[in-house]
Amino acid sequence: MNITILGAGAMGSLFGGLLAQSGQQVTLLDINDGHLAAIRSDGLLLATDSGERRITGLHACRPEQATGHPDLLLVFTKTLHTDSALRSVAGHIAGHTLVLTLQNGLGNAEALSRHVAPQQVLIGMTNWPADMVGPGQVHSHGQGMVRVLAPGSRERNASQEVAAVLDAAGLNCAVDPQVWTSIWEKVAFNAALNSLCAVTGCTVGQLDAAPEGVALARSIVLEVVAVARSQGIELDAQGCLDSVAFAIAHHRTHKPSMLQDVLAGRPTEIGSINGQVLERARQAGVPVPHTETLLGLLRLIETVSYTHLRAHETPEH
Ligand code: NAD
Repeated sequence: MNITILGAGAMGSLFGGLLAQSGQQVTLLDINDGHLAAIRSDGLLLATDSGERRITGLHACRPEQATGHPDLLLVFTKTLHTDSALRSVAGHIAGHTLVLTLQNGLGNAEALSRHVAPQQVLIGMTNWPADMVGPGQVHSHGQGMVRVLAPGSRERNASQEVAAVLDAAGLNCAVDPQVWTSIWEKVAFNAALNSLCAVTGCTVGQLDAAPEGVALARSIVLEVVAVARSQGIELDAQGCLDSVAFAIAHHRTHKPSMLQDVLAGRPTEIGSINGQVLERARQAGVPVPHTETLLGLLRLIETVSYTHLRAHETPEH
């Protein structure tokens, strides 16, 4: 399969690297010139639980330099960059190109549908972890899986073919008619832990330093479960609460990406997580006071980028 990865950061590089290793023809598109240059000169250095290897033969360039028309375009930008990234590859996408999003949050299918026909859109969820450790270097430790579905297509061949290709690359992928449940369960997890850590500066494990931290996380999870139910999606509430409790107990030093973004002064994915939950909650008349408060606090933090705190650290001239 001829595959383009749009947004070749941590996840895009992991997926692109494994797909290339399994024999697919892969192009990585990104706007991080240092990362692209490192991949072009030395290949992608990928470390997973099965060891470290250097993957060569990847074509890596900026979106506007993409040539040809891929069979599959996999979107792995942060959600706030989806629209601009897809606009920049409009000429690269043909009528036969399937476009798959495995990004976190809600509203991703709608975002793709603004650029391609509904029958080209594939949605999904992945819980593979990945981190960029430097230009051309990605780590992914732990196991994960991918679940995909073609929501707008009556025939399932498209999603089955894509799932088979991802599975053959070792990504543990299957078509899942219940994919919305997996997507919402991950939203419940992220809406609680990502936003709480980003607002407080706590690692995941530090959330149990005070009982209020765990109580807040549980409240947000239950709000998302209620909103999902209003959309006709029944989540396993206890399962969601258990996942959050497990992460607090066992992933103690983990800094969720939203906290990393705040610390780096970058905008976060709060809009497609807590923001999208709030939007659906309002439409359905479901109260989500904790989700809304966290969203408001994070918007404020994004706006001031902690400059009021950093000002005290800057020596006066
Ligand atoms: P990342 O920041 O490492 O990668 C995003 C990449 O997109 C960056 O390299 C950036 O330069 C690139 N980009 C930004 N604008 C672009 C544009 N206009 N055109 C092309 N490229 C552009 O992020 P990530 O951690 O790989 O996450 C990607 C998505 O996957 C997010 O939605 C995230 O929530 C989700 N996700 C991440 C993980 C994880 O463990 N990292 C796991 C599951 C899902």
